[in-house]
Amino acid sequence: MKILVINSGSSSIKYQCFDMTTQAVLATGLVERIGEPAGRLIHRPAGKPQVERNNAIPTHRDGLAQVAALLLDPVEGIIESPNEINAVGHRVVHGGERFSAPTVIDDAVRETIRDLAPLAPLHNPPNLVGIEVAGELFPDAIQVAVFDTAFHQTMPPEAYRYAIPAALYDEHKIRSYGFHGTSHQYVTEVAARHLGKPLADTNVITVHLGNGCSITAVRGGQSVDTSMGFSPLAGLIMGTRSGDIDPAVVFFLHDKLGMAVGEIDRLLNKQSGLLGLTGDNDLRDIQRRHEAGDEAATLALAMYAYRVRKYIGAYFAVLGRVDAVVFTAGVGQNSALVRRLVCDGLDGLGIYFDAARNEARNGDDVREIHADGSPVRVLVIATDEELEIARQTVSVIRG
Ligand code: AMP
Repeated sequence: MKILVINSGSSSIKYQCFDMTTQAVLATGLVERIGEPAGRLIHRPAGKPQVERNNAIPTHRDGLAQVAALLLDPVEGIIESPNEINAVGHRVVHGGERFSAPTVIDDAVRETIRDLAPLAPLHNPPNLVGIEVAGELFPDAIQVAVFDTAFHQTMPPEAYRYAIPAALYDEHKIRSYGFHGTSHQYVTEVAARHLGKPLADTNVITVHLGNGCSITAVRGGQSVDTSMGFSPLAGLIMGTRSGDIDPAVVFFLHDKLGMAVGEIDRLLNKQSGLLGLTGDNDLRDIQRRHEAGDEAATLALAMYAYRVRKYIGAYFAVLGRVDAVVFTAGVGQNSALVRRLVCDGLDGLGIYFDAARNEARNGDDVREIHADGSPVRVLVIATDEELEIARQTVSVIRG
């Protein structure tokens, strides 16, 4: 069973092809800067040399056609015919309230994803292009949508509703949806296996810290609250996004500084977060500056970690009992400093953190960084959203 996973973004396409009988990765790759004068394609077939092409890639259709040609290439390829791909699993950012599980894509599902585009204008339209082009290039493959929002559809209304006039929810579905669901779900399942507990009895707080950041309270394997909301702008401080902010700041920016709504949108999504605080958005650069004594970098790190701690405290109160706090994604898996800033001094919550284990790296997919006897475990788990999409794709086509 071969599954192609496609994550079609606004100007890029990431893909991974799996043999699901062994869960082996057959090829992975990335098409970048679609529509710009200098595009780039990187294709990494397992056991063969990497292919890199630097040329203009005008549209998503061109990009995916090049990917399909590479997958079928007699030298660099991994399949001999398009019909060897049994199914294509698509990452779709917004499934609204309509989708709480992976779904086989038909005309009605495509239409619903299109109807949800106003909720995710930067994401759902390119996701749809990926679905359409993959359908043409792999006509015999079953197309499956795996939604970023689906895992959070188990949140209760007290968590997902906003205290604004009820008609805005009833008529326009303005509520919190949450994102990064595939990652939170994947690390939850890995944590449950590691803890040796049935998923239905596993309570964890999953902390996804990457370019985007979110934190989820998971009770009995199900999301019951999460920090991102109506959009991926809410919650934690991120690379370029502000996270939580008093909405009155938006009125002030408009009324007193004369900023248009579009400018404020760009400011909060693209020019804020770590970038706004320091001029850098990559945490590695900020750590280097902090170690060199840069005060702005030190403050940004303190704010970043403080926000995560606040949410951990809140989610302890939500869950009552917590088996583990799980760190994942680029920062969560790699920054011992951030994990220490978040976890140090949380003994009162039963989090006995072990600084030496936190620093040690052994390449394992699951690492324990709590002290022996800690009531709450602290785990570092490598997320794998593509594998989770492939697994969910297989589960849905097997019914
Ligand atoms: P992701 O979105 O999960 O790919 O995470 C990307 C982010 O992870 C980058 O922007 C970096 O800020 C961060 N990152 C990656 N490697 C490291 C590292 N070794 N130390 C600290 N942060 C890292």
